[in-house]
Amino acid sequence: MLFLQWRNIEEEVSLELSSANDQIINSLQMVMRKYETLLEVLGERLLELEGLRDSPRARELIDRLLQRNPELAGFGLADPEGNLILTTQNLDRSRVPNLALDPRTSDTFSKALDAERMVIGRTYHLPTAGGWIIPMRYPLRDGEGRVVAVITTGLRLGAGESLWSKESVPAPIRFAVIREDMYRQYGSYISGPEMEAYYASPISQRVLEIYDRLLARQGLSITSRPEEGSKVHLYAPDFRGNWGRVCIGYTSLYGYYTLTAMPLTEVLLRFSRQALWTLGLLLIFNGLLYLIFRAAIRQQRRNEAELAYLASHDQLTRLPNRRNLSDRFPEWSMSRRQGFSLLFIDLDNFKGINDLHGHSVGDAILREVGVRLQHHFGDHCVFRQGGDEFIVLWEAVPKEQLETICRRFLAALRTPIACGEMQFSIRASIGIARAPRDGTRLEELLRRADMAMYEAKRLHAGIFHYQPRLEDQTGGDTRIEQALAGALERGEFSVVYQPQIDARSGEIVGAEALVRWHHDTLGDIPPDRFIPIAENMGLMREIGLMVTEKALVDSASLIPLAEASRNFRIALNVSASQLRDEGFVDAMIALCRNYHHPTRTLVIEVTESLFIHDLEHARERLDRLRGEGMEISLDDFGTGYSSLSLLTRLPLSELKIDREFVQNILTDSQDYKLIMGIIDLGRSLDIPVLAEGVENRQQAARLRDAGCDRFQGFHFARPMPLSHLQRMIRDGWFPSPPPAGSPGEADSLLG
Ligand code: C2E
Ligand code: CA
Ligand code: CA
Repeated sequence: MLFLQWRNIEEEVSLELSSANDQIINSLQMVMRKYETLLEVLGERLLELEGLRDSPRARELIDRLLQRNPELAGFGLADPEGNLILTTQNLDRSRVPNLALDPRTSDTFSKALDAERMVIGRTYHLPTAGGWIIPMRYPLRDGEGRVVAVITTGLRLGAGESLWSKESVPAPIRFAVIREDMYRQYGSYISGPEMEAYYASPISQRVLEIYDRLLARQGLSITSRPEEGSKVHLYAPDFRGNWGRVCIGYTSLYGYYTLTAMPLTEVLLRFSRQALWTLGLLLIFNGLLYLIFRAAIRQQRRNEAELAYLASHDQLTRLPNRRNLSDRFPEWSMSRRQGFSLLFIDLDNFKGINDLHGHSVGDAILREVGVRLQHHFGDHCVFRQGGDEFIVLWEAVPKEQLETICRRFLAALRTPIACGEMQFSIRASIGIARAPRDGTRLEELLRRADMAMYEAKRLHAGIFHYQPRLEDQTGGDTRIEQALAGALERGEFSVVYQPQIDARSGEIVGAEALVRWHHDTLGDIPPDRFIPIAENMGLMREIGLMVTEKALVDSASLIPLAEASRNFRIALNVSASQLRDEGFVDAMIALCRNYHHPTRTLVIEVTESLFIHDLEHARERLDRLRGEGMEISLDDFGTGYSSLSLLTRLPLSELKIDREFVQNILTDSQDYKLIMGIIDLGRSLDIPVLAEGVENRQQAARLRDAGCDRFQGFHFARPMPLSHLQRMIRDGWFPSPPPAGSPGEADSLLG
């Protein structure tokens, strides 16, 4: 690249030098011809005059001629012996030497005697002419061709004709005109004291040898003249020994070598200017290339990072995924030898929301839950396990502290999430496994935290710490399935009752029938655990009928006991498959007739999720039940789906506030507001409100103040077998010692 550039510059310089050289040759020939003609004409005129003598007319002629050509130093007419016969006025004839004898002129003078045309002498210093001149001599011949005189004149250097000044060629080109005898005729770069040395002697042998050597490289020599019109180019020293680019031309007309030269410094300067440009461009180009390259690499890295990100993150919530957890777990656990906790978080009733409102709503909720998780626990320790399950890794902190953190999160989670016109208050259950106590491997910790989470759900506790007893309690779904298969036939199900209390009078006004399952090897399995499985196995219809039948039989023994028997009601939970069943209503009616049970004392508890698929059919069935005198209670109210239209379209006779809200009524103003809202809603629709899960006096007091109509909860009574309930109704408030954790006095019950 740079080499090419150098060649370019060289070529450019050579061209410039060539054309300058041509210019020199052209004007050289022109000027010299002009003087030759001048001298020829002058000679003829002088011959015409009175011969070759010093005469006034002759003198006048040459003086006038000199006036017209001021660049000339003067005219002289010499006889063939070199004596001056006639000179212009300006020359002191006595001081002009004999041309044939003076060493500076003799050579060319004698040449002129033999020549046919003008002879140009060496450049020399002639003080009488006022400086350095180029002498020109022209032989005058008579009729027979004999030389009768020589006209001589001198061209002053630096005057007149443009050829002999340094302006003749464009700077910084220099030129020299060299005679064949190797004397310099003119050098454009020579002035002052240097002139003597320059013109007085021929080019030194040393310089000639250098040139010879340099020319030899091109297959030339100092003796081989360049052909007329062609040029020789080379790097060579100039007169002062400074190197430069030199162009040599030759004209045979007067036997001149013409040299044009450019100093090497100039050539280098031009090259460096070009090179700088090129380098600059190169630099810019390289810079651009670098930037493009870097951008490409970055893009690639970004792509790789994006891929890695996609592989390790959940698309929906942008949270690290399960795989990410597996990848990061070893480092996490290694760096926390003192221990840590793994939280297994599962949303409650998420499937219901998803089924009822569609996946877009479900997705929006999951995203928001992800955001809240990260906000609460931090960016780097929250993972999405899948579905509505999330994992959090947490530092080793005291159990109570961890619980506080989790409770705060659950509270934060309940702040309603807006989806279109609906609001969802999300609840979750958290299972906690602690390393290294509950295990050190990820799988182990996950499994145990999962178990603890199920226990939290079962107990509606929100949070549960893993305990070894969970291991042998239930086991997996398949074991439950196997056990469930023959449970009905084996009579493993029983029904317990949880009293419901009137908020004003404190009387028992009813009881909720709750199914219990005891398996020989699995033990007591909570309904929350087995009902979804039984539902999937298609067993719930049968189980539901069994519970209903049992409850009807049992209530027959209860109603007579109750003082206000007219008001005593038995509440039955109805699962989705039960309500979906065509024969459900008929079966209920038939059972009531069978057991002579007044339908008005039956309460059917339904949850919002039962209206997911087919509100119209479900409503139609409820309407029929209502028509038979049964009451309809909307269970778990406040969770998930809270549509006003549902409330007005269903034939409801009770709203059951979900226990989760009741639990937080004292601590969470949000929940308190929600309960107030539900109670107000019930009032405005003329539907009584029951609060379930009331666990203490303060909660009861607050709920009563808020206007709640009925209570159910451990504070009043735990689910109990029929015999306990019978005794309780018959004997009034707590004739027998209340179950552990329950208050002992009726007075204090209502705060
Ligand atoms: P549910 O209908 O909301 O029933 C109330 C649950 O809250 C019962 O749990 C009861 O033991 C519990 N509970 C009552 N008072 C308190 C309290 O003060 N604090 C706390 N933490 N919990 C309290 P259980 O018996 O485990 O039943 C769980 C769920 O299983 C029920 O929730 C109901 O949805 C379902 N279920 C129970 N029996 C039946 C049934 O016979 N048929 C159907 N379809 N579902 C049933
Ligand atoms: Ca219920
Ligand atoms: Ca409930």
